[in-house]
Amino acid sequence: MAKKQFKAESKRLLDLMINSIYTHKEIFLREVVSNASDAIDKLCYLALTDENVGLSRDDFRIRITVDKDARTITVSDNGIGMNKAEMESNLGVIARSGSLQFKNDIPEDKKAEAPDLDIIGQFGVGFYSAFMVSDKVTVLSHRYGEETGAKWESSGVDGYTVEDYEKDDIGTDVIMHIKPDSEEEHYSEYLDSWRLKELVKKYSDYVRWPIRMDVEHYEQQETGETDEDGKPKTKYVAVSSEETVNSMVPIWQRSKSDVTDDDCIQFYKDHFHDQEDPLAVIRVDAEGTVSFKAMLFVPGKAPYDLYTRDYQPGLQLYSSGVMIMEKCADLLPDCFRFVRGVVDSPDLSLNISREMLQHDRQLKIIANNLEKRIKTKLKTMLDEDRDSYAKFWEQFAPLIKYGVVSDYGMHKDLLKELLVYRSSGSDGLVSFDEYIKEMPEKQEKIYYATAESVSRAESLPQAEQVKDAGYAVLYMTDEADTFVVSVLGDYDGKEFCNITSDDLGLESEDEKADTEKKAEENKDLLDFIKDTLSGEVEDVRLSHKLRSYPVCLTTEGDITLEAEKYLKSLPGDQFRDLKAKKILELNGNHRAFGALQKAFETDREKAGAMAKILLAQAKLIADIPLDDPREYTDLVCNLF
Ligand code: ADP
Repeated sequence: MAKKQFKAESKRLLDLMINSIYTHKEIFLREVVSNASDAIDKLCYLALTDENVGLSRDDFRIRITVDKDARTITVSDNGIGMNKAEMESNLGVIARSGSLQFKNDIPEDKKAEAPDLDIIGQFGVGFYSAFMVSDKVTVLSHRYGEETGAKWESSGVDGYTVEDYEKDDIGTDVIMHIKPDSEEEHYSEYLDSWRLKELVKKYSDYVRWPIRMDVEHYEQQETGETDEDGKPKTKYVAVSSEETVNSMVPIWQRSKSDVTDDDCIQFYKDHFHDQEDPLAVIRVDAEGTVSFKAMLFVPGKAPYDLYTRDYQPGLQLYSSGVMIMEKCADLLPDCFRFVRGVVDSPDLSLNISREMLQHDRQLKIIANNLEKRIKTKLKTMLDEDRDSYAKFWEQFAPLIKYGVVSDYGMHKDLLKELLVYRSSGSDGLVSFDEYIKEMPEKQEKIYYATAESVSRAESLPQAEQVKDAGYAVLYMTDEADTFVVSVLGDYDGKEFCNITSDDLGLESEDEKADTEKKAEENKDLLDFIKDTLSGEVEDVRLSHKLRSYPVCLTTEGDITLEAEKYLKSLPGDQFRDLKAKKILELNGNHRAFGALQKAFETDREKAGAMAKILLAQAKLIADIPLDDPREYTDLVCNLF
């Protein structure tokens, strides 16, 4: 029969497996058994709604048999099975192209000798790992609903065959022909039932379905003879009997004290195919209106598609160990959509359709509970492990911020404690609670600056007065932050103060009087500047805010400079007319202002140019691009 070729990627992975020098080849059994378990999950789920399946929960099992003479290990399941087409697409092509990326990073000449240990070790490579210990793999399968079975066979990279095959029972047999022993490797160890039992215990103990095996053990039997005292003589005989070798308790069902953090982390990596350790593990054992167990994970890294429409959030939903939904989105609020994990409740009725399940009241109760648990875990991380929280924040901050703002601020109280910002007062990230705790007694407001980056925010002229007063400024560098602040309104009764648009409330009565007096004296000049810059700014004022800078741009009203920039970036022109009300503030004590005063008396044209230059500078400091940089350059050069 003509051999079919593996797809290029699969071929590489297969090659990697066959020539693997990986020391933990034993994980092949875990991979094959876990496929068997998944296949049973699928048929068991189908059996809930399709009585033709004719199997009940107790009928499902995985069986491992060993034939020492033929050197084969067979893993059989009575799960959903595969037809020929599925064998082609599932076994001929490997879906995990992502894991191959690693291998691609290795220089060409090193590839052969550098099997990718990490891929294999950290999350397994599925079915192909059978080739680490086998020189031929035969898969016999009969898919539920099909007339007949199919056979897939391959001895490695040169291809595989698929053909019809008479197999009466529904399900799959994976027959692994174990490699002969070599000098380095003793493959025969896998033909020993004790060794296999040990491997099942080690890697597959929590598989929900019974894994049955013939295990040899010795029994004392009477020989029929008697000894000198007349007692019957006995001898030890090897007998083998089938037993269930796994404890069948899923990891999330086991008591917390039984399961180490490492177990949970390993489970996460295997189960959700992630190479990174999770940042947090959340275990829930809830009793009440709805009883359930959950094991949730905060991933170490956002999946590449998290912020796209393609991302499918959701938790795996089990009812008493049977998976009923792969991704139940209703269990997670949008802001925590990055969380992965498993929820298992015996209280969910199994025979309701998926659509109905989505509206299940019980799900709402579970979801509410989980929302609080996730929040609490994140808060604990924030308080006790700032490094991990910083990693978390780097990956997932936009979701938390969006969560505060969305649904009319419905979740703001849940989430506001999780917000952190860079601050002028310290190096790391600071929460609002921490900011408030550090506030000097006379400080009343939470000062913040919005800008594109921390360094931009740091150099805002308006920050000088705040810092001079001994107060810290929070740097908000996300577009979403403006909305976050406006949705929060205040924090713990403390008002927010945008240093570029709000009254800082920092000037003394004397300063105020002084500024007013100066403004009065310079009324003509200020009017002149306002005229010169008409259309660009709403007003021109003398300011007490500034220290070293000659000017700054502030705004009045709801639209800040940041909001204007954001609105401008949106497609279409529906927001084109929404502009910030800009105020040009001048530092009356600055040399530049003195020069302007002088020019106003002697050379109006020069004074006009200076006014334009100052506005351009204010814009540059505020990170607003100049409409006409050429004009600005000319104006400056003319002063030389
Ligand atoms: P993964 O299990 O991560 O999808 P594998 O390479 O282990 O990757 O398996 C590829 C696919 O082959 C599985 O997703 C499944 O569709 C199919 N498969 C493997 N083993 C079995 C089995 N025992 N019964 C039914 N389908 C199977």
